[in-house]
Amino acid sequence: MIRPPAPLSTIFRDLVNRFRADIPALRRTGRYALLPELCVNCLGKDARQGLCSGCRSDLPINHTCCHRCGLPLILAMPRPGLICGECLKHPPAYDRAFMPWRYEFPVDRMISHYKYHRQRAFGRPLLADMAGHVEAYLAACPDQRPDLLVPAPMHRQRERQRGFNQAAEIAEAISQRTGIPWSGQRVRRVRKSAAQSGLDRQERLRNLRGVFEVNGEVPAHLAIVDDVVTTGATMRTLAWLLRKHGAERIQVWALARTPAHSGHQGFYMTGNGETGRESG
Ligand SMILES: [Zn+2]
Ligand SMILES: [Zn+2]
Repeated sequence: MIRPPAPLSTIFRDLVNRFRADIPALRRTGRYALLPELCVNCLGKDARQGLCSGCRSDLPINHTCCHRCGLPLILAMPRPGLICGECLKHPPAYDRAFMPWRYEFPVDRMISHYKYHRQRAFGRPLLADMAGHVEAYLAACPDQRPDLLVPAPMHRQRERQRGFNQAAEIAEAISQRTGIPWSGQRVRRVRKSAAQSGLDRQERLRNLRGVFEVNGEVPAHLAIVDDVVTTGATMRTLAWLLRKHGAERIQVWALARTPAHSGHQGFYMTGNGETGRESG
């Protein structure tokens, strides 16, 4: 496929962001303390943690979603405790989701620059804000505080190619802010799985059989951490395995959740039995 050339502003922004990955380290040396903090998206100057207030307020908040899996739902009057049709039909082994954004522009682009293009500057505001959102969530619901954060593991070879596991970086950022310990050793990815796209629900779950392995003690209450949850098959598999190894309460914490495919007409149910239709 031939792609049209990127506009000059995009090329310039990406160049700046490539350099920016080193800026926090440079600032700490003192010699570059006066470097302005620029927004990763618009290069505006009033940035905090790499994002200006305008771009931050444009992030797609996942406020109306399934309580259990985080799937965005369309609803005129948001209510707490909504459960989507998929979770009603096939309850996952995890109990609750915390995913502050929908995987839509510009969060999708920021995550892909962070993950696939080695532009760590794009990840910094998301990781910092995620840690802040988790802190606020736990302040409001202290009984949701897990004993351990478990980042979704990457296959060793893939992690070597990418140079980092983004799920581990997110878990570390949350851990630094909240004091909840994290471990990248508790679950390992022992086998690579075939591509998940184009597979139905059953095939996806079958495809993930034997992919993960649990090592050591599993605490009673934990949160699995990842960057994006798309179909939830990986989270379902991990949660099922962790439950088999003794976990009693499992949450899934991710930066973003992909909205349902267009044409998907699942139903949801509220706590009082009311039903409606899922998003687009
Ligand atoms: Zn901006
Ligand atoms: Zn759900």
